[in-house]
Amino acid sequence: MKKEVAARGVDLISLGIGDPDSPTFPHIVAALQDAATRPANHRYPDYEGMPSFRAAAASYVEKRFGVRCDPATEVVSLIGSKEGIANMAVAFVDPGDIVLVPDPGYPVYGIGTQFNGGTVYPMPLRAENGFLPDLKAIPEEVAKRAKLMWLGYPNNPTGALATSQFFADVVAFAERHDIIVAHDNAYSEIYFDEPPPSFLATPGARDLGIEFHSLSKTYNMTGWRVGFAVGNRELIAGLGKVKTNVDSGIFQAVQEAGIAALTGDQSPVAGMRELYRQRRDMFLPAIEKIGLHAQPMRATFYVWVTVPKGFTSTSLVSKLLQDVGVVATPGSGFGSAGEGYIRFSLTVATPRLAEAVERLKTLKL
Ligand SMILES: *Cc1c(COP(=O)(O)O)cnc(C)c1O
Repeated sequence: MKKEVAARGVDLISLGIGDPDSPTFPHIVAALQDAATRPANHRYPDYEGMPSFRAAAASYVEKRFGVRCDPATEVVSLIGSKEGIANMAVAFVDPGDIVLVPDPGYPVYGIGTQFNGGTVYPMPLRAENGFLPDLKAIPEEVAKRAKLMWLGYPNNPTGALATSQFFADVVAFAERHDIIVAHDNAYSEIYFDEPPPSFLATPGARDLGIEFHSLSKTYNMTGWRVGFAVGNRELIAGLGKVKTNVDSGIFQAVQEAGIAALTGDQSPVAGMRELYRQRRDMFLPAIEKIGLHAQPMRATFYVWVTVPKGFTSTSLVSKLLQDVGVVATPGSGFGSAGEGYIRFSLTVATPRLAEAVERLKTLKL
């Protein structure tokens, strides 16, 4: 439909994709430029990451989250966290296993499961539960066969945060049923109030948990393909065993840039948060004015909006597209419990977002 509308000459503003519009910070680019000239970096890297990269990741996680881990055994580098999320299922999901997957959720959790013969059991995220799964609603039989639970807070697409009580409940549930917990923390640095925690800081989480971190959203590095996982050493070893057989690690010059990102000045990240805050404060009142209700936006750069009466996720997205050339994502694309919502991503230049706001204000719903 986007192609069709664009072919009519409409200048589309895409708030559809969660890909930061700002460039990678200059000190990180400079680190890559320097590292790229060194022949030692032109060879095959180790799949698990350079010791210096894993040390930088461990020191970052300790400083930021108060979680200590051994860089040699409790950290593995990833070619973007998506790679690790998909390979987690290769490592741990066998045919017949159940994987508990948030609905709505990042599609890779479920797809990785299905590619490896696992069965997805969706955990609906509902507004009345603060977009946290209701663990008590998971039947005993399902919990018994479950191998793995995926979670991700700050959450894409709902923008919700987890509570420490919820994380504690997850640990108790996973202990009782012998389930691995894989927590996706890609948005840990995109927040507007208190810094969100690591799942691994929850008592007991280190025994059964692994957490996925990404440099993509934090440092505007989506194209660079660099992230890492930290957590329980058996889980890290299992993921590493897959990786050593299917990939050959991240280009070392990119790892050096990653070290510059993780250990360098974090003030540009604070600047990014400020930028997203300004955009949020411009966008939310505008959509409220046309009668669209957004969930409180305390983290991520996503606005999760309730579809008004008379529309579905896709019919509202198509109206926005056809009438004002603004692209949003139907919530139903993230799972059936996403029906009734649409998602806007505030990742276009601020003047473009202002233009989107002006157009949206003209909309009659
Ligand atoms: C963007 C995103 C990722 C993946 O990031 P990478 O670029 O692969 O590191 C993972 N999880 C969620 C929920 C995301 O939105």
